Amino acid sequence: MAERLLLRARRGGPGTRAVSLHGRRLQRVPRGLASLPGLRALSLRDNELRGLPVELGGLSRLKELNLGNNIFEEVPEQLKYLSSLQKLHLFGNKITTISPAIFDGLEKLILLNLNNNKLKYLPPEIHRLENLKNMNLNNNQLESIPKELCSLQKLSELHLSHNCLITVPEEIGYMTNLRMLCLSRNQIGVLPDMEDLMLMELYCEDNPLLQKQPLSAIQEEEVWSLKEIVARFIFSQLTKEDSILHTSVKQNLEACNILSKKQECAQCGQGFLNIWLECVRFVNVRQKMKISKNVHLLPVRTLLCSYKCFNHPGHGVFGIAVP
Ligand SMILES: [Zn+2]
Repeated sequence: MAERLLLRARRGGPGTRAVSLHGRRLQRVPRGLASLPGLRALSLRDNELRGLPVELGGLSRLKELNLGNNIFEEVPEQLKYLSSLQKLHLFGNKITTISPAIFDGLEKLILLNLNNNKLKYLPPEIHRLENLKNMNLNNNQLESIPKELCSLQKLSELHLSHNCLITVPEEIGYMTNLRMLCLSRNQIGVLPDMEDLMLMELYCEDNPLLQKQPLSAIQEEEVWSLKEIVARFIFSQLTKEDSILHTSVKQNLEACNILSKKQECAQCGQGFLNIWLECVRFVNVRQKMKISKNVHLLPVRTLLCSYKCFNHPGHGVFGIAVP
């Protein structure tokens, strides 16, 4: 049946632009597709495919490929040869892994739909999809997302609902074109600072987001390690232009390494190494963007250097109480 349909398409000649073979219980891709070099769109969704033939990589003009609702267990590596591909649908498969080699190609990809799969992690090489605007990863098993994903500067929609995320990388604040971020149904307690983003829609219902319920607490001063004391001294010296430390630090690779882990106090700006007080600010983003209905104030991660800064009046920063 499928072969016959394909024959009809081929009779249309090598100029055939679209082929749809969905819902035909195909267990393999019909032979001969590669002899349709003019093909722009191919739908093979709702079948029983688990692999692709090598010759499919010859469809150099293919712009849209729908492989949704099949039984792929990984993203087929041949896809990297589809040099014109802009839209790739792989929703509703059984995909657990993506090989980093895929990202040797697919440089024109604009839309990647991997909803409803079994992905646990994404390779950092994902940042090579430089033209990606829309990424759909709803309903997977992602426990984290690589910070490299945040360098996708054209990304405007990121769908991550119904995963197992505990945190979102701080670097998400650099995604200047992001307009829609969906984080519903995860395990996120605190969000990174996203105030510089131009987000228009943010969805984060069904997360254990920290509540603003002030409690009194005992403040236990901690003894700093020698490393911490020295690091704080160096950080404060480095803010002075004439410090001789500038050159000596630059010449010491190990010191550079350690000092590159610098965090900054949200109150006084002092640099420090170990998170001394991890706090939250509650931000009301409702006026700025469309947001989940039952979320009013969002807890945003904030770091402070000391109790001195914590006790400074008027900063609106709260410590986190462990139940
Ligand atoms: Zn401080």
